[in-house]
Amino acid sequence: YDDKPWLARYAPGQPAAITVEFDNALAMFRSSVERNPNGDAIRYFDGRISLRELDELTDAFAAALLDTGFTKGDRVALYLQNVPQFVIAQIGTWKAGGIAVSVNPMNRERELELLLRDSGARVLVCLQSLYRDVAATVLGNTDVQTVITTSELEYQTRNDQRVFSGVERISCEGTLDMAELLARCAGRRPPTVELAPDDVAFLTYTSGTTGPPKGAMTTHRNVVFNAQAYRDWIGLGQDDVILGVAPLFHITGLVGHIAISLLIGAPLVLMYRLDPTLTIETIRDERATFTVGSITVFIALMNAPNADKDALASLTKIYSGGAPIPPSTVKAFQSTFGHYIHNIYGLTETTSPSHAVPLGAQAPVDEASGALSVGVPIYNTIVRIVGDDGQDLPPGEIGELVTSGPQVVAGYWNKPEETEKALPGGALHTGDVGYMDENGWFYIVDRKKDQINAGGYKVWPREVEDVLYEHEAVREAAVVGVPDPYRGETVKAFVSLRPGRTATADELIAFCKERMAAYKYPRQIEFLDEIPKTVTGKLLRRELRAREQQKQTV
Ligand code: AMP
Repeated sequence: YDDKPWLARYAPGQPAAITVEFDNALAMFRSSVERNPNGDAIRYFDGRISLRELDELTDAFAAALLDTGFTKGDRVALYLQNVPQFVIAQIGTWKAGGIAVSVNPMNRERELELLLRDSGARVLVCLQSLYRDVAATVLGNTDVQTVITTSELEYQTRNDQRVFSGVERISCEGTLDMAELLARCAGRRPPTVELAPDDVAFLTYTSGTTGPPKGAMTTHRNVVFNAQAYRDWIGLGQDDVILGVAPLFHITGLVGHIAISLLIGAPLVLMYRLDPTLTIETIRDERATFTVGSITVFIALMNAPNADKDALASLTKIYSGGAPIPPSTVKAFQSTFGHYIHNIYGLTETTSPSHAVPLGAQAPVDEASGALSVGVPIYNTIVRIVGDDGQDLPPGEIGELVTSGPQVVAGYWNKPEETEKALPGGALHTGDVGYMDENGWFYIVDRKKDQINAGGYKVWPREVEDVLYEHEAVREAAVVGVPDPYRGETVKAFVSLRPGRTATADELIAFCKERMAAYKYPRQIEFLDEIPKTVTGKLLRRELRAREQQKQTV
């Protein structure tokens, strides 16, 4: 690190490198169970699951999986909201030697089918309502042999009326009920399956820098390293209380909520969904101390009717990642609640953070773009800024961030070519464009990739365009991100119609809405006679995006 002095500079008293303490994520959980068996592992409304109980429940889940002929490396898809069963199924899958595949619960039929087919999942763990409304119709086209269903009502004991109004228990014929399964297998101790640091812990789907969703292979070493990095960087320990408000299916929730709580043996307070009023009440009641989430969480909390200066008194360790956060939002949050939001940056492919602002430090702002620094590279992480010709650029010059470190994933599932393109030699080409200043702070000022970032939810334009092309009136479509005051960016489609055909913007929006997750469908449609293209016929999305950004500044 001699030529990278910034690696140590902003974390006073901290080493530039740490060593990985456990071979796999299960080992770090087991060490917490031994240390603090009666401590709460999960809190969900008034429901409590201790570390010992979580160990027993996950033994039962693993035993049930092994009964189905499950073998090492088999995939279990988790199609769930933020419920305790997510954590039980994930740890249980590891105990059976399997790989957990997390699926966004907002996904609709085509998205779910793609992930199930791509991952080759043999088992699906699914909310009853998602089974009835979405999964049941696509399972015939997949390798799924066992479906385990469960209800969001399972582990909560209060607030039934307010939070879950309209939620009922649904009988899902042909599936195994998770509560019954766990009761039936209670007390069983499955045989130990060896897990090596390079074994895949989960497949986390992302559009990455190029193309349709791909399963990033997050290894056990990746998970353990970044859980430790979070712990040491922020100084988290058993006395902390983690507020789990980011979605668990996303890498932020998988590592910033689940893996950390397993490592430090501290309670994870699960928020079923982002209900700002309830979240503030919960922070107050549970005395939550740490959270990581996206900008939309922090804006929602500021606008809650019960937001006041003392509302978040205990929550002193706050990190925002997954999307840019403007300095004005950080300032507004500070004047509402008295706490500073620290920026944290990373990708699915870096198992969450590669950069973070040290706790207690204030990130500088780039004057030209107004971007808040994303911090400095965390332990063991080397980040280069690279020009178009692949050469390293000096401080102050803008190029692509290329990241190496123990948190960079092993590649994409069954996609060697995509892996080679994004991770040549194991170094991740992030598709994010930025620079490092003279003091080692990094700034993200642009993006090379076409990805749209709607408050942390990523949209791949091709996916939306493909759906638009299915509409009989659409001749051509180009989808881009446009500025949005709440989400940072939202989805806009430029459409040209076939000669003699008509379609209204509302009609096309409704057409898309039915066929994709709610954050993906276009919020705006603009009709053009021609979509701008290169001479070779490639859509000029960047030109459309630039045009929209210009409109905002005029
Ligand atoms: P994902 O794979 O969903 O985690 O998305 C990763 C992408 O989110 C990055 O490549 C960035 O474009 C964006 N991102 C994550 N964190 C930040 C941040 N703190 N500031 C700006 N962009 C961010």
